[in-house]
Amino acid sequence: MARAPDCVLVIGAGIVGLGVAHALSRSGRTVVVADANAPGSGASAGNAGAISSGSVAPLALPGVLKSARKMLLDPESPLHVPLAYLPQASPWLWRFVRAAGIERVNGIAAALAGLLRGSLAAHQRIAAEVGCAERIVAGGQLHCYPDQAALARDAFSWALKRAHGQKTEEVAGAAIRDLEPAVAARYTRALFLPDEAWVDGPQEYARAIAAALAARGARFVGAGVDALARRGDDWEARTAAGTLTARQVVLAAGAWSGRLLAPLGIRVPLETQRGYHVELGAPGIRLRRQVVLADRKVFVTPMGAALRAAGTVEFGGLERPMTEARARLIGRHLRAGLDGLAAGEERLWMGHRPCMPDSMPVIGPASGAPGLFCAFGHGHLGLTGAARTGELLARLLGGGDAPELAPFSIARFA
Ligand SMILES: Cc1cc2nc3c(=O)[nH]c(=O)nc-3n(C[C@H](O)[C@H](O)[C@H](O)COP(=O)(O)OP(=O)(O)OC[C@H]3O[C@@H](n4cnc5c(N)ncnc54)[C@H](O)[C@@H]3O)c2cc1C
Repeated sequence: MARAPDCVLVIGAGIVGLGVAHALSRSGRTVVVADANAPGSGASAGNAGAISSGSVAPLALPGVLKSARKMLLDPESPLHVPLAYLPQASPWLWRFVRAAGIERVNGIAAALAGLLRGSLAAHQRIAAEVGCAERIVAGGQLHCYPDQAALARDAFSWALKRAHGQKTEEVAGAAIRDLEPAVAARYTRALFLPDEAWVDGPQEYARAIAAALAARGARFVGAGVDALARRGDDWEARTAAGTLTARQVVLAAGAWSGRLLAPLGIRVPLETQRGYHVELGAPGIRLRRQVVLADRKVFVTPMGAALRAAGTVEFGGLERPMTEARARLIGRHLRAGLDGLAAGEERLWMGHRPCMPDSMPVIGPASGAPGLFCAFGHGHLGLTGAARTGELLARLLGGGDAPELAPFSIARFA
């Protein structure tokens, strides 16, 4: 492929790759996006849609070992590690536990706040530019707990988020049902987060970004990149549709990103946390805000006329098929958590959250590989973080400064 001098190759058309491509194209760069799959069809298709700008607490918090052990012994818990996969997951899990020290946790929260602050406005800008402003719904999140003791168990995480500007309003008893009549009576305590929002149709949003990019001249190559190699000052990306050449490449292949880095001698502790959703096409109720069944870690999101319940963390790698029982479990939690749901078909979905052990994505130059940039590992917050990742990375590729990205360097794993 002939290369325009300012051309950037973006590998991966998930929401992160599209966020980056959008920002690059906006700054006047020529963009080529390579992905064997249609835009927004990886993890970005079936997520809970939350734009959780204030969600700066990492997953590994002080005391994680104790709470994880408890969860692993409970078949109804949101965490599942199949025994056969444990040896493979162990090095990652060990790093995860080590990231839970108080100083590290405070550092991670500060870094995530720097990245995620302004995410809602950034998504609103993108959505308006690509003609789907109505998909960003600034309706807030209602996190529901069965009792004060359950809420108190998350006190550390809420305090951390509040310290970084998260607004929370306490709601109790009948006032919960005044806000959302369908929330079951078993929930007696809640926190309402007025500043959070959601994307009504994350896959449709991704497609709208891709369509706008194509209309502005970006080229979509419907083939994955099989290998990357450096040739002089350029990168060559081998695909089934031929070789693509670019001076700058952004690797945004989600949970698959490590596969292209390993042959270059760059190793990253990237693990998939498989997540699930259950969607009811005709739920029979209507929520006005996103409801989080916090004790079950299930996000329930209105998606058009449908209702999507998403959650669960399952280890097990990229190749195994979905474990239908995990999705059905979310369905049971949904029906126990909300009243008045209609019977009917439950559409099941599984996707791969690209997760680093410190809950922080990798964004910025790849060590020892000039012109190659990383944008992966956004874990549970890839939709939220995609817009700001794009803005900041485009600035960096254009030769500008993005100090907010320093903590996300790949060098932290060297
Ligand atoms: C159940 C669930 C709920 C979630 N809820 C939320 C939420 O509410 N809010 C939030 O912010 N985040 C949420 N997330 C996380 C979020 O969905 C992810 O972090 C985000 O989608 C990751 O985007 P991505 O573009 O990095 O990866 P993906 O969307 O997975 O895209 C990666 C793309 O790379 C392509 N690819 C792979 N290999 C290659 C290759 N060799 N060459 C070219 N292309 C390649 C794939 O085909 C894919 O299209 C959730 C995730 C799950 C699973």
